[in-house]
Amino acid sequence: MKINTKCLHAGYSPKNGEPRVLPIYQSTTYKYESSEAMGKLFDLEDEGYFYTRLANPTNDAVAAKIASLEGGVAAVLTSSGQAANFYAIFNICHAGDHVVSSSAIYGGTFNLFAVTMKKLGIDFTFISPDSTKEEIDAAFKENTKAVFAETISNPSLTVLDIETFAKSAHEHGVPLIVDNTFPTPINCRPFEFGADIVTHSTTKYMDGHATQVGGVIVDSGNFDWTQNDKYPGLTTPDDSYHGITYTERFGKGAYITKAVVQLMRDLGSIPSPHNAFLLNIGLETLFLRMERHCYNAQKVAQFLSENENITWVNYPSLKGNKYYDNAKKYMPDGTCGVVSFGVKGGRESATKFMDSLKLATIATHVADCRTCVLHPASTTHRQLNAQQLEECGVSEDLIRFSVGIEDVNDIIEDIKQALEKAAK
Ligand SMILES: *Cc1c(COP(=O)(O)O)cnc(C)c1O
Repeated sequence: MKINTKCLHAGYSPKNGEPRVLPIYQSTTYKYESSEAMGKLFDLEDEGYFYTRLANPTNDAVAAKIASLEGGVAAVLTSSGQAANFYAIFNICHAGDHVVSSSAIYGGTFNLFAVTMKKLGIDFTFISPDSTKEEIDAAFKENTKAVFAETISNPSLTVLDIETFAKSAHEHGVPLIVDNTFPTPINCRPFEFGADIVTHSTTKYMDGHATQVGGVIVDSGNFDWTQNDKYPGLTTPDDSYHGITYTERFGKGAYITKAVVQLMRDLGSIPSPHNAFLLNIGLETLFLRMERHCYNAQKVAQFLSENENITWVNYPSLKGNKYYDNAKKYMPDGTCGVVSFGVKGGRESATKFMDSLKLATIATHVADCRTCVLHPASTTHRQLNAQQLEECGVSEDLIRFSVGIEDVNDIIEDIKQALEKAAK
Protein backbone atom coordinates (compact mmCIF):
# COMPACT_ATOMS: atom_id res chain seq x y z
CA MET A 1 0.00 0.00 0.00
CA LYS A 2 1.08 3.57 -0.70
CA ILE A 3 1.24 5.85 2.30
CA ASN A 4 -2.08 7.60 1.53
CA THR A 5 -3.88 4.26 1.42
CA LYS A 6 -2.17 3.21 4.66
CA CYS A 7 -3.69 6.26 6.38
CA LEU A 8 -7.09 4.67 5.80
CA HIS A 9 -6.41 0.95 5.96
CA ALA A 10 -3.25 0.10 7.94
CA GLY A 11 -3.51 -1.31 11.46
CA TYR A 12 -7.07 -2.66 11.32
CA SER A 13 -8.62 -5.14 8.87
CA PRO A 14 -12.07 -6.29 9.94
CA LYS A 15 -12.99 -9.89 9.24
CA ASN A 16 -16.33 -11.07 7.89
CA GLY A 17 -19.17 -9.34 9.73
CA GLU A 18 -16.93 -7.26 12.00
CA PRO A 19 -17.32 -3.45 12.40
CA ARG A 20 -15.92 -1.49 9.45
CA VAL A 21 -14.70 1.29 11.75
CA LEU A 22 -12.10 0.48 14.40
CA PRO A 23 -14.14 -0.13 17.60
CA ILE A 24 -13.39 1.58 20.90
CA TYR A 25 -12.51 -1.19 23.34
CA GLN A 26 -13.36 0.89 26.39
CA SER A 27 -12.50 -1.89 28.83
CA THR A 28 -9.86 -2.03 31.53
CA THR A 29 -9.91 -5.81 31.74
CA TYR A 30 -10.07 -8.95 29.61
CA LYS A 31 -11.65 -12.29 30.42
CA TYR A 32 -9.76 -15.62 30.52
CA GLU A 33 -10.96 -19.21 30.98
CA SER A 34 -8.26 -20.24 33.44
CA SER A 35 -5.74 -18.68 35.76
CA GLU A 36 -3.04 -20.68 33.98
CA ALA A 37 -3.88 -18.95 30.68
CA MET A 38 -3.62 -15.58 32.38
CA GLY A 39 -0.38 -16.54 34.13
CA LYS A 40 1.24 -17.18 30.75
CA LEU A 41 0.41 -13.62 29.72
CA PHE A 42 2.10 -12.27 32.83
CA ASP A 43 5.21 -14.28 32.01
CA LEU A 44 5.09 -12.90 28.44
CA GLU A 45 4.88 -16.50 27.21
CA ASP A 46 1.58 -15.92 25.42
CA GLU A 47 0.43 -12.78 23.67
CA GLY A 48 -2.81 -11.18 24.78
CA TYR A 49 -4.43 -8.38 26.71
CA PHE A 50 -4.86 -8.47 30.44
CA TYR A 51 -5.03 -4.88 31.69
CA THR A 52 -5.38 -1.61 29.78
CA ARG A 53 -2.57 0.15 31.67
CA LEU A 54 -0.23 -1.98 29.53
CA ALA A 55 -2.08 -2.45 26.27
CA ASN A 56 -5.48 -2.17 24.62
CA PRO A 57 -6.72 -3.41 21.22
CA THR A 58 -7.92 0.03 20.01
CA ASN A 59 -4.61 1.63 20.94
CA ASP A 60 -2.63 -1.20 19.35
CA ALA A 61 -4.43 -0.86 16.02
CA VAL A 62 -3.66 2.86 15.88
CA ALA A 63 -0.04 2.29 16.93
CA ALA A 64 0.29 -0.33 14.16
CA LYS A 65 -1.04 2.19 11.63
CA ILE A 66 1.53 4.81 12.65
CA ALA A 67 4.34 2.20 12.63
CA SER A 68 3.30 1.37 9.07
CA LEU A 69 3.23 5.06 8.02
CA GLU A 70 6.76 5.57 9.36
CA GLY A 71 8.04 2.29 7.92
CA GLY A 72 8.89 0.95 11.38
CA VAL A 73 8.49 -2.48 12.98
CA ALA A 74 6.52 -1.54 16.12
CA ALA A 75 5.03 1.43 17.96
CA VAL A 76 3.42 2.33 21.26
CA LEU A 77 0.93 5.12 21.89
CA THR A 78 1.44 7.37 24.92
CA SER A 79 -0.91 9.80 26.63
CA SER A 80 1.03 12.87 25.35
CA GLY A 81 3.99 13.91 23.24
CA GLN A 82 5.82 14.70 26.46
CA ALA A 83 5.38 11.11 27.65
CA ALA A 84 6.58 9.82 24.26
CA ASN A 85 9.86 11.73 24.42
CA PHE A 86 10.38 10.85 28.08
CA TYR A 87 9.83 7.13 27.46
CA ALA A 88 11.88 7.12 24.26
CA ILE A 89 14.93 8.18 26.24
CA PHE A 90 14.20 6.66 29.64
CA ASN A 91 13.77 3.25 27.95
CA ILE A 92 17.53 3.17 27.28
CA CYS A 93 19.00 5.62 29.84
CA HIS A 94 19.28 5.63 33.59
CA ALA A 95 20.95 7.78 36.25
CA GLY A 96 24.56 8.44 35.28
CA ASP A 97 23.88 8.37 31.52
CA HIS A 98 24.24 11.19 29.01
CA VAL A 99 22.35 12.28 25.87
CA VAL A 100 23.37 14.65 23.06
CA SER A 101 20.41 16.80 22.01
CA SER A 102 19.77 19.52 19.49
CA SER A 103 19.07 22.82 21.25
CA ALA A 104 16.35 23.70 18.72
CA ILE A 105 13.56 21.67 20.27
CA TYR A 106 10.07 22.26 21.62
CA GLY A 107 10.16 24.25 24.90
CA GLY A 108 8.37 21.51 26.83
CA THR A 109 10.92 18.94 25.68
CA PHE A 110 13.79 21.27 26.58
CA ASN A 111 12.44 21.63 30.11
CA LEU A 112 11.84 17.87 30.39
CA PHE A 113 15.48 17.22 29.46
CA ALA A 114 17.30 20.13 31.12
CA VAL A 115 15.34 20.22 34.39
CA THR A 116 13.23 17.13 35.10
CA MET A 117 15.39 14.37 33.60
CA LYS A 118 18.48 16.05 34.97
CA LYS A 119 16.94 15.59 38.44
CA LEU A 120 16.72 11.86 37.61
CA GLY A 121 20.48 11.90 36.99
CA ILE A 122 20.43 11.91 33.18
CA ASP A 123 22.65 14.61 31.75
CA PHE A 124 22.13 16.40 28.42
CA THR A 125 24.54 18.32 26.19
CA PHE A 126 22.71 20.72 23.87
CA ILE A 127 24.23 21.44 20.47
CA SER A 128 23.18 23.56 17.52
CA PRO A 129 20.91 21.80 15.00
CA ASP A 130 23.32 23.20 12.38
CA SER A 131 26.32 21.37 13.90
CA THR A 132 28.80 19.78 11.52
CA LYS A 133 29.67 16.11 11.91
CA GLU A 134 32.81 17.10 13.85
CA GLU A 135 30.82 19.34 16.20
CA ILE A 136 28.33 16.55 16.91
CA ASP A 137 31.19 14.08 17.47
CA ALA A 138 32.78 16.46 19.98
CA ALA A 139 29.67 16.40 22.21
CA PHE A 140 29.91 12.65 22.94
CA LYS A 141 31.04 11.28 26.29
CA GLU A 142 31.89 7.78 27.49
CA ASN A 143 28.36 7.45 28.94
CA THR A 144 26.40 8.87 25.96
CA LYS A 145 23.42 6.63 25.14
CA ALA A 146 21.44 8.52 22.50
CA VAL A 147 21.23 11.53 20.17
CA PHE A 148 17.97 13.50 20.03
CA ALA A 149 16.64 16.15 17.61
CA GLU A 150 13.49 17.39 15.86
CA THR A 151 13.13 16.96 12.08
CA ILE A 152 11.50 20.42 11.88
CA SER A 153 11.86 22.26 15.18
CA ASN A 154 8.98 23.91 17.00
CA PRO A 155 8.89 26.95 16.91
CA SER A 156 12.22 27.89 15.29
CA LEU A 157 11.58 25.80 12.09
CA THR A 158 15.11 24.49 11.59
CA VAL A 159 15.32 21.42 9.31
CA LEU A 160 17.61 18.68 10.59
CA ASP A 161 20.38 17.16 8.48
CA ILE A 162 19.19 13.69 9.52
CA GLU A 163 21.97 11.76 7.73
CA THR A 164 24.78 13.70 9.43
CA PHE A 165 23.24 13.27 12.90
CA ALA A 166 22.58 9.57 12.23
CA LYS A 167 26.13 8.99 11.01
CA SER A 168 27.65 10.55 14.10
CA ALA A 169 25.29 8.63 16.43
CA HIS A 170 26.03 5.30 14.73
CA GLU A 171 29.80 5.81 14.78
CA HIS A 172 29.46 6.17 18.55
CA GLY A 173 27.25 3.07 18.84
CA VAL A 174 24.09 4.92 19.88
CA PRO A 175 20.69 5.44 18.22
CA LEU A 176 19.33 8.67 16.73
CA ILE A 177 15.90 9.53 18.14
CA VAL A 178 13.95 12.17 16.20
CA ASP A 179 10.71 13.95 16.99
CA ASN A 180 8.91 14.02 13.63
CA THR A 181 5.80 15.92 14.79
CA PHE A 182 5.89 18.82 12.32
CA PRO A 183 6.48 17.11 8.93
CA THR A 184 4.57 13.89 9.88
CA PRO A 185 5.41 10.69 7.98
CA ILE A 186 3.47 12.08 5.01
CA ASN A 187 6.26 14.58 4.35
CA CYS A 188 9.28 12.92 5.98
CA ARG A 189 10.13 9.35 6.97
CA PRO A 190 13.31 9.69 9.05
CA PHE A 191 14.05 5.93 9.06
CA GLU A 192 14.86 6.22 5.34
CA PHE A 193 17.75 8.53 6.29
CA GLY A 194 19.17 6.56 9.20
CA ALA A 195 17.12 7.63 12.24
CA ASP A 196 16.45 4.68 14.56
CA ILE A 197 13.53 5.79 16.73
CA VAL A 198 10.81 8.31 15.84
CA THR A 199 8.50 10.11 18.29
CA HIS A 200 5.46 12.33 17.75
CA SER A 201 3.12 14.56 19.59
CA THR A 202 0.00 13.12 17.94
CA THR A 203 -1.83 16.13 19.41
CA LYS A 204 -0.71 18.12 16.36
CA TYR A 205 -1.20 17.22 12.65
CA MET A 206 -1.86 13.51 13.21
CA ASP A 207 -5.02 14.37 15.14
CA GLY A 208 -5.41 17.68 13.33
CA HIS A 209 -8.73 18.61 14.90
CA ALA A 210 -7.58 19.54 18.42
CA THR A 211 -9.60 16.75 20.04
CA GLN A 212 -7.03 14.71 21.96
CA VAL A 213 -3.57 15.03 23.54
CA GLY A 214 -1.36 12.08 22.64
CA GLY A 215 2.03 10.76 21.61
CA VAL A 216 3.68 7.80 19.91
CA ILE A 217 7.09 6.11 19.79
CA VAL A 218 8.02 4.11 16.67
CA ASP A 219 11.00 1.77 16.34
CA SER A 220 12.67 1.20 12.97
CA GLY A 221 13.98 -2.14 14.21
CA ASN A 222 17.32 -1.25 12.62
CA PHE A 223 19.45 -0.45 15.65
CA ASP A 224 21.53 -3.34 16.99
CA TRP A 225 21.33 -3.03 20.79
CA THR A 226 23.73 -5.94 21.24
CA GLN A 227 26.65 -4.32 19.36
CA ASN A 228 28.10 -2.94 22.62
CA ASP A 229 27.39 -3.08 26.35
CA LYS A 230 25.63 0.29 26.54
CA TYR A 231 22.08 -1.12 26.82
CA PRO A 232 22.00 -3.72 29.60
CA GLY A 233 18.30 -2.99 30.12
CA LEU A 234 17.63 -4.56 26.72
CA THR A 235 20.43 -7.12 26.48
CA THR A 236 20.61 -8.62 29.98
CA PRO A 237 17.87 -10.38 32.02
CA ASP A 238 15.10 -8.16 33.45
CA ASP A 239 14.54 -9.32 37.04
CA SER A 240 11.17 -7.56 37.09
CA TYR A 241 10.10 -9.93 34.29
CA HIS A 242 11.38 -13.31 35.49
CA GLY A 243 14.74 -12.87 33.84
CA ILE A 244 13.56 -12.16 30.29
CA THR A 245 16.21 -10.67 27.99
CA TYR A 246 14.30 -8.41 25.59
CA THR A 247 16.69 -8.62 22.63
CA GLU A 248 16.79 -12.42 22.83
CA ARG A 249 13.07 -12.95 23.21
CA PHE A 250 11.68 -10.18 21.02
CA GLY A 251 14.39 -9.43 18.42
CA LYS A 252 13.46 -6.32 16.46
CA GLY A 253 10.51 -5.78 18.82
CA ALA A 254 12.77 -5.52 21.89
CA TYR A 255 12.76 -1.75 22.37
CA ILE A 256 8.98 -1.23 22.06
CA THR A 257 8.21 -4.37 24.10
CA LYS A 258 10.37 -3.06 26.94
CA ALA A 259 8.70 0.36 26.73
CA VAL A 260 5.30 -1.34 27.09
CA VAL A 261 5.87 -4.08 29.63
CA GLN A 262 8.27 -2.10 31.82
CA LEU A 263 7.68 1.65 31.44
CA MET A 264 3.97 1.54 30.67
CA ARG A 265 3.48 -1.00 33.47
CA ASP A 266 5.37 1.14 36.00
CA LEU A 267 4.58 4.70 34.89
CA GLY A 268 1.23 4.19 33.14
CA SER A 269 1.01 7.00 30.56
CA ILE A 270 -1.38 5.10 28.30
CA PRO A 271 -3.97 7.06 26.30
CA SER A 272 -7.63 6.22 26.75
CA PRO A 273 -8.99 4.01 23.93
CA HIS A 274 -11.43 6.81 23.16
CA ASN A 275 -8.53 9.20 22.47
CA ALA A 276 -6.86 6.59 20.27
CA PHE A 277 -10.13 6.30 18.33
CA LEU A 278 -10.21 10.08 17.76
CA LEU A 279 -6.57 10.02 16.69
CA ASN A 280 -7.36 7.30 14.18
CA ILE A 281 -10.09 9.38 12.57
CA GLY A 282 -7.57 12.20 12.21
CA LEU A 283 -5.00 9.85 10.66
CA GLU A 284 -7.48 8.77 7.97
CA THR A 285 -7.27 12.22 6.34
CA LEU A 286 -3.68 13.12 7.31
CA PHE A 287 -2.37 12.94 3.73
CA LEU A 288 -5.13 15.24 2.42
CA ARG A 289 -4.68 17.76 5.21
CA MET A 290 -0.86 17.89 5.01
CA GLU A 291 -1.04 18.60 1.30
CA ARG A 292 -3.43 21.51 1.90
CA HIS A 293 -1.52 22.81 4.94
CA CYS A 294 1.66 22.96 2.86
CA TYR A 295 -0.05 24.52 -0.17
CA ASN A 296 -1.63 27.21 2.00
CA ALA A 297 1.50 27.87 4.06
CA GLN A 298 3.56 28.33 0.90
CA LYS A 299 1.09 30.96 -0.35
CA VAL A 300 0.98 32.70 3.03
CA ALA A 301 4.79 32.73 3.31
CA GLN A 302 5.06 34.11 -0.22
CA PHE A 303 2.50 36.83 0.54
CA LEU A 304 4.28 37.80 3.77
CA SER A 305 7.69 37.90 2.11
CA GLU A 306 6.35 40.52 -0.32
CA ASN A 307 4.56 42.67 2.30
CA GLU A 308 6.20 45.92 3.42
CA ASN A 309 4.91 45.65 7.00
CA ILE A 310 6.73 42.35 7.53
CA THR A 311 10.38 42.52 8.61
CA TRP A 312 11.25 38.84 8.13
CA VAL A 313 9.62 35.50 7.25
CA ASN A 314 10.79 32.03 8.18
CA TYR A 315 9.37 29.09 6.25
CA PRO A 316 11.70 26.24 5.22
CA SER A 317 10.00 25.72 1.84
CA LEU A 318 10.49 29.37 0.88
CA LYS A 319 13.32 29.93 -1.64
CA GLY A 320 16.25 31.62 0.05
CA ASN A 321 15.48 30.09 3.45
CA LYS A 322 18.54 28.79 5.29
CA TYR A 323 16.99 25.30 5.42
CA TYR A 324 15.61 25.22 1.86
CA ASP A 325 18.13 22.60 0.68
CA ASN A 326 17.62 20.33 3.70
CA ALA A 327 13.86 20.66 3.22
CA LYS A 328 14.13 19.71 -0.48
CA LYS A 329 16.27 16.69 0.39
CA TYR A 330 14.39 15.28 3.37
CA MET A 331 10.83 16.43 2.64
CA PRO A 332 10.54 17.06 -1.12
CA ASP A 333 6.72 17.12 -1.09
CA GLY A 334 6.49 19.88 1.53
CA THR A 335 7.46 20.69 5.10
CA CYS A 336 4.60 21.75 7.39
CA GLY A 337 1.97 24.45 7.79
CA VAL A 338 3.77 26.57 10.35
CA VAL A 339 5.23 29.92 9.28
CA SER A 340 6.92 32.41 11.59
CA PHE A 341 7.48 36.10 10.92
CA GLY A 342 8.12 39.51 12.40
CA VAL A 343 5.87 42.56 12.13
CA LYS A 344 7.31 46.05 11.66
CA GLY A 345 7.10 47.92 14.96
CA GLY A 346 8.21 45.02 17.18
CA ARG A 347 6.34 43.65 20.13
CA GLU A 348 3.60 46.29 20.24
CA SER A 349 2.66 45.87 16.57
CA ALA A 350 2.82 42.09 16.92
CA THR A 351 0.22 42.21 19.68
CA LYS A 352 -1.95 44.66 17.76
CA PHE A 353 -1.71 42.48 14.65
CA MET A 354 -2.78 39.37 16.52
CA ASP A 355 -5.65 41.07 18.33
CA SER A 356 -6.93 42.31 14.94
CA LEU A 357 -7.12 38.85 13.35
CA LYS A 358 -10.68 37.65 12.78
CA LEU A 359 -10.37 34.21 11.18
CA ALA A 360 -7.13 33.06 12.82
CA THR A 361 -7.64 32.28 16.50
CA ILE A 362 -5.18 33.02 19.27
CA ALA A 363 -4.50 29.60 20.79
CA THR A 364 -1.74 27.69 22.57
CA HIS A 365 -1.73 25.16 19.81
CA VAL A 366 -0.21 24.45 16.39
CA ALA A 367 -0.91 22.14 13.52
CA ASP A 368 -4.67 22.36 13.79
CA CYS A 369 -6.91 22.26 10.71
CA ARG A 370 -8.10 25.77 11.73
CA THR A 371 -5.60 28.59 11.40
CA CYS A 372 -4.21 29.61 14.78
CA VAL A 373 -1.58 32.04 15.95
CA LEU A 374 0.63 32.57 18.98
CA HIS A 375 2.99 35.29 20.15
CA PRO A 376 5.54 33.29 22.19
CA ALA A 377 7.17 36.38 23.81
CA SER A 378 3.93 37.37 25.51
CA THR A 379 2.60 33.83 26.22
CA THR A 380 4.64 30.62 26.31
CA HIS A 381 7.94 32.51 26.78
CA ARG A 382 6.49 35.39 28.82
CA GLN A 383 8.77 34.89 31.82
CA LEU A 384 11.93 35.37 29.74
CA ASN A 385 13.70 38.70 29.30
CA ALA A 386 14.89 40.02 25.93
CA GLN A 387 18.29 38.34 26.13
CA GLN A 388 16.86 34.96 27.16
CA LEU A 389 14.35 35.19 24.32
CA GLU A 390 17.17 35.71 21.85
CA GLU A 391 19.10 32.72 23.22
CA CYS A 392 16.25 30.32 22.52
CA GLY A 393 15.64 31.71 19.04
CA VAL A 394 12.41 33.54 19.89
CA SER A 395 12.68 37.21 18.97
CA GLU A 396 10.30 39.68 20.64
CA ASP A 397 8.45 40.25 17.38
CA LEU A 398 8.16 36.55 16.43
CA ILE A 399 4.67 35.44 15.52
CA ARG A 400 4.08 31.70 15.11
CA PHE A 401 1.38 31.34 12.50
CA SER A 402 -0.08 27.86 12.06
CA VAL A 403 -1.75 27.89 8.67
CA GLY A 404 -4.94 25.81 8.57
CA ILE A 405 -6.82 24.20 5.70
CA GLU A 406 -9.36 26.99 5.10
CA ASP A 407 -9.45 28.70 1.69
CA VAL A 408 -6.05 30.38 1.50
CA ASN A 409 -7.58 33.59 0.13
CA ASP A 410 -9.58 33.99 3.34
CA ILE A 411 -6.44 33.44 5.43
CA ILE A 412 -4.47 36.01 3.43
CA GLU A 413 -7.35 38.52 3.55
CA ASP A 414 -7.42 38.15 7.33
CA ILE A 415 -3.67 38.76 7.61
CA LYS A 416 -3.92 41.74 5.25
CA GLN A 417 -6.62 43.55 7.26
CA ALA A 418 -4.84 42.83 10.58
CA LEU A 419 -1.55 44.16 9.22
CA GLU A 420 -3.28 47.35 8.12
CA LYS A 421 -4.68 47.85 11.62
CA ALA A 422 -1.31 47.08 13.24
CA ALA A 423 0.45 49.64 11.00
CA LYS A 424 -1.84 52.49 12.10
C1 LIG B 1 3.64 19.81 21.16
C2 LIG B 1 4.94 19.14 20.97
C3 LIG B 1 5.43 18.21 21.92
C4 LIG B 1 4.70 17.90 23.19
O1 LIG B 1 3.54 17.18 22.90
P1 LIG B 1 2.21 17.18 23.83
O2 LIG B 1 1.32 16.28 23.07
O3 LIG B 1 1.74 18.60 23.94
O4 LIG B 1 2.64 16.61 25.15
C5 LIG B 1 6.63 17.59 21.64
N1 LIG B 1 7.33 17.86 20.52
C6 LIG B 1 6.90 18.74 19.60
C7 LIG B 1 7.71 19.01 18.38
C8 LIG B 1 5.70 19.42 19.80
O5 LIG B 1 5.28 20.31 18.88
